[in-house]
Amino acid sequence: MIPRPFEYHAPRSLSEAISLLTEHGDTAKLLAGGHSLLPMMKLRFALPDHLIDLGKLTELKGIRETGDELRIGAMTTENELIWSTLLQEKCPLLVEGARQISDPQVRYRGTIGGDISHGDPGNDHPSLTIALDASFVLAGEHGDRVVPADGFFLGTYMTLLEAGEIMTEIRIPTPAAGTGYCYAKLKRKTGDFATAATAVTLRMSGGNVSDVRIVLTNVGQTALRATGAEQSLLGKPLDDARIDEAARLAMSICEPAEDLRGDIEYKTAMAGEMTRRALSKALSRAAH
Ligand SMILES: Cc1cc2nc3c(=O)[nH]c(=O)nc-3n(C[C@H](O)[C@H](O)[C@H](O)COP(=O)(O)OP(=O)(O)OC[C@H]3O[C@@H](n4cnc5c(N)ncnc54)[C@H](O)[C@@H]3O)c2cc1C
Repeated sequence: MIPRPFEYHAPRSLSEAISLLTEHGDTAKLLAGGHSLLPMMKLRFALPDHLIDLGKLTELKGIRETGDELRIGAMTTENELIWSTLLQEKCPLLVEGARQISDPQVRYRGTIGGDISHGDPGNDHPSLTIALDASFVLAGEHGDRVVPADGFFLGTYMTLLEAGEIMTEIRIPTPAAGTGYCYAKLKRKTGDFATAATAVTLRMSGGNVSDVRIVLTNVGQTALRATGAEQSLLGKPLDDARIDEAARLAMSICEPAEDLRGDIEYKTAMAGEMTRRALSKALSRAAH
């Protein structure tokens, strides 16, 4: 299908983009990599009168470390995440996650800010950023606000982003050296979304779990933080029995939708299996 006609804008600064968004309100849509928005426009699920392209805003690009934080511009592409030597060294979970997104074409254009802002529970960055305790910078005509990733996703295609706001930056506390991590993702084939996936970050101290985050992808209306599973592991050694129990607790919060990727029972079982694998791998990577 062909999208409905729209007026195209290519602002050259963030302030110009915010002014355009404020001026056109609900009739405008921001364009980042276009890999979620354009299919929706072609299907006529999205019908903007104005398309505001963020592509010329170099201020929304780049990856840097500031103090004890990694700061990633919202317009940074998946490929740029993957090839960042800073992230490879300091935040390999994000690299591992980005490498599993779709295919090279999507990763070349798709941006981390677009992936998060879209609010699709099938997208991978929601779980990854919650597992990394990230926060998001949202800019509007009255200034910036910073909101935690955990709590940002309200429902399918619903987030805390308000009309007139642009996500400008993703901030991640630099993971401490020795943090274990894994993104375990099951997909039917290259280019598909997750049937189920689990992001884990893990710290061990004196042989016991001192910090853990477990977040599930595509088995609910949003990414799901498995807090019960996390609590079951804190302060204890991580052995096979505890990993099994954590996987069982993670499965208990799953509410996947049945589709071509599988029925509810299968997807829930796969979320358990991805949790098992992610915890085991994170343990093998963590300093003890
Ligand atoms: C075949 C295929 C397979 C895919 N598989 C996966 C997958 O396995 N995992 C995965 O995570 N994703 C997957 N995707 C989605 C892909 O990663 C998209 O690129 C991503 O969801 C959106 O990023 P984008 O930069 O393309 O944003 P766009 O499509 O341009 O925008 C998406 C939405 O976010 C809004 N938006 C964009 N940037 C901002 C911003 N800075 N501030 C506020 N709002 C903004 C837009 O207005 C729009 O509503 C797949 C896409 C395709 C086509």
